[in-house]
Amino acid sequence: MISNPKKFVVVQTAPAVRAAIGEEFGMPPGSLVTGKMVAALRRLGFDKIFDTQFGADLTIMEEAYELVERIKNKGTLPIITSCSPGWIKYIEHFFPGCFKYLSTCKSPQQMFGAIAKTYYTNKINRKPEDMYVVSIMPCTAKKFEAKRPEMKDSGIQDVDAVLTTREAARMIKEAGIDFINLPDEEFDEPLGISTGAATIFGATGGVMEAALRTAYEVVTGKTLEKIEFDEVRGIEGLKKANVILNGLELKVAVAHGLSNAKILLEEIKKGESVYHFIEVMACPGGCLGGGGQPMPTNLEIRRKRATSIYREDESKFIRKSHENPAIITLYNEFLSKPLGKKSHHLLHTHYTKRSRYYSTLN
Ligand code: SF4
Repeated sequence: MISNPKKFVVVQTAPAVRAAIGEEFGMPPGSLVTGKMVAALRRLGFDKIFDTQFGADLTIMEEAYELVERIKNKGTLPIITSCSPGWIKYIEHFFPGCFKYLSTCKSPQQMFGAIAKTYYTNKINRKPEDMYVVSIMPCTAKKFEAKRPEMKDSGIQDVDAVLTTREAARMIKEAGIDFINLPDEEFDEPLGISTGAATIFGATGGVMEAALRTAYEVVTGKTLEKIEFDEVRGIEGLKKANVILNGLELKVAVAHGLSNAKILLEEIKKGESVYHFIEVMACPGGCLGGGGQPMPTNLEIRRKRATSIYREDESKFIRKSHENPAIITLYNEFLSKPLGKKSHHLLHTHYTKRSRYYSTLN
């Protein structure tokens, strides 16, 4: 597709990729190589180098408003995050009765694809059919997610191809690119603009923290004095915390690894859950420990990758999704408002009950 002159080929890279792809080139775990990764993809010939973190900021906008709306209108609680396709597939097979708790937000990968093939193609005067969207993901489950029949809200498949971190590294090596000695380069605008909140999506607890940064300011109208929510950070399999939002005590839980998620789902099924908001990531450590990441991995390596993700967050000039200027423009020019009609059409989804018994067909 890159060498097809009729195709405009864009690539998006997930937050966890930049914190790990350097390991494929002999760099130590924890090396943050955002600029070199962008430079390598540009040399491979992609027409635009965009960032899934733009999609992550958009996910936070929609999800934080969904959380606030469910609390204000006494909707179904807890609300559970929906951006990990490994987790979604698990709940579809084993806990279909719990769909009503899931956020309806698509993952950042899929929000990105739907926006790239509508808003962005419109901006550059191209047809969605002319565009080919490639994702680079820490995740093998993202390949399945991109092929789900409902992920065609642009009118055609929103994301065309998904490469894992290891596959992208192999492609860079095969092209003879000297990754380690590349200069740092920047993502393209506007779909490459993102905040620190989007960066931390790659670590367990990151989606929760990013959503709280936005939900707090949406609910209170006040600026957070300290934007780090340390209580939801860290590598424990199940974290629980109370967060005060304008006098309302919000009970939150963060799980990574499906055995930990199962504990929270069993509580919900028994009517014993005390939480308002739950984050679940299928992989240990969150996407940093995803199935498409460099191998081998262990707790120490995942910890180092997490440190570099939080370093990237701290280095960002803007660290809250609702302050991303490209997201503000997207709502002003195209979507109008979070949870609006267009957002519902392009950015939200539904779930499918599947057999408990595994089959490649479901
Ligand atoms: S936690 Fe694992 S399955 Fe879920 S999105 Fe991240 S890498 Fe994929």
